[in-house]
Amino acid sequence: MTDLLGLGEVIAGIDGTLPFSPVKTLCLIFWFYLCLYSVQRSDESPLILNRYRALSNTAALFVGPAILFVLFVVDTVQKVQAGKLTWTDIPGYTLNSILRANPSSKARPISSLGPAIELMDTAGRRFADVYEQHAAGKRSNREILDLTERLVLEALQGRASDILIDPKTDEIYTIRYRIDGLLRTHEQIENKTCMAVINSIKAISGMDIAEKRRPQDGAFMARLPDGEVFFRVASSGVLGGEKLSIRVMDQTQGLITLGEIGLDDRSQKTIRNIIRQPSGMILVCGPTGSGKTTTLYAMLGTMNFQERNVVTIEDPIEHVMPQASQIEINVKAGVTFANSLRSILRQDPDVICVGEIRDAETAGMAVQAAQTGHLVMATLHASSNMAALVRMMDLGVRPLLLASALSVIISQRLVRRLCEACKGPAELTQSQMNYCVQNNLNQQKIMRANGCGRCGGTGYYGRTAIMDVMYMDDNLRHMLVSNTLTPADMKHKGDKDFFTTLRRDGIEKVLEGITTLEEVKRVTSHLGG
Ligand SMILES: [Zn+2]
Repeated sequence: MTDLLGLGEVIAGIDGTLPFSPVKTLCLIFWFYLCLYSVQRSDESPLILNRYRALSNTAALFVGPAILFVLFVVDTVQKVQAGKLTWTDIPGYTLNSILRANPSSKARPISSLGPAIELMDTAGRRFADVYEQHAAGKRSNREILDLTERLVLEALQGRASDILIDPKTDEIYTIRYRIDGLLRTHEQIENKTCMAVINSIKAISGMDIAEKRRPQDGAFMARLPDGEVFFRVASSGVLGGEKLSIRVMDQTQGLITLGEIGLDDRSQKTIRNIIRQPSGMILVCGPTGSGKTTTLYAMLGTMNFQERNVVTIEDPIEHVMPQASQIEINVKAGVTFANSLRSILRQDPDVICVGEIRDAETAGMAVQAAQTGHLVMATLHASSNMAALVRMMDLGVRPLLLASALSVIISQRLVRRLCEACKGPAELTQSQMNYCVQNNLNQQKIMRANGCGRCGGTGYYGRTAIMDVMYMDDNLRHMLVSNTLTPADMKHKGDKDFFTTLRRDGIEKVLEGITTLEEVKRVTSHLGG
């Protein structure tokens, strides 16, 4: 096999007097590993149909190692030429490439998806059956179905939270995935093909294919070996065609625990304590996409469901929790936050989780419930903890009630985590060094983003929250009740303090090598200061 690269002759030249050549043996081991690796990759590839798998594995065993070896050498040389790697980085880079063969536990194993993905409508009818009804007799149907399935599959493999399909020019549509909060162009597809893909998704989502301008909503699901994933689809007519946004509601990815969301030990302990209390109110604040719901779920996850009756009102339900009663908002059917809250209060639950406080009625009832023996958890769209207090007062809650009902307010933002497989020690600028020395900070563990196959070349994989946790103590209660600050002053001062706290929490995570300064700056810069 070594002769594929002519290695045999090279090694033969080095052969010495030992009964075996160490170089030859090493090369043989290396080649053996490459063979196994090729077969493993081919065996896991979702692009190969099951019936051709034996054939492809055999082919990979003989041809794969040579191709892999050449690709690896070319890739490394290109990286060095582009200045992304220096010769001294190569051993580390090689090691990372090898480690990529063992994806971390959080990555969805490719083999668990494979051709086993099956798209269906929410009633459980198969994709092909549904689509055939709409586009009967077309020869290219199978290709469109395969393409749609592949796009969904790759979104799941890439950990995408959203898939966006929209027209770019008259001839081309772009497919973008939102991964770790940022959009990436996944691929571009020719107009006619992409319209067919859009139609197939609309058909399976129970939407009207003929209606291309009016906004529509729908949903479909994918069955995988380890569970089901739901997709919420929204379509609308835009300039030059039709736009599709698909939200991935992945039930198979386990819930994040309170220990994993990014809280420091002290805050974690206090929040656990507050959750054990029979009454009170926990507010989680931030803009859209700041991970508020994830924090809410993490807190719910610590609940003792045997002893407490937990009811949630959500829009939409993002995770099914079998031990809790979950209500989904449906404005068209008249199910709103306010009237759901009113009806569940009559059933006297122990814990109430309100997906989002948006209106005066919900705000009033939530505060009241918190004072009458219920633990209320809710999210609120507010820029900082102080802004949250002002927002609640804007919604008509009296400061005195607010002061006595609230237990804790948490404001948060999400930063991307450095990819564990490729992060490397950062080189600090002189001013950054000085800053660390002046503030007595240990800069040993500061890391930088590099990029590898696992993280799609971005250097980041997954996210963590940076947060400001504010307990309602006597001082705060007094300030709230005595009205020493106007709401505008409160919000202004609050945002400024929040910015400082958030940066401090962010810098701690930079010092631990969890994220980078660029990330912390990115999410805190729009706050000003
Ligand atoms: Zn990486």
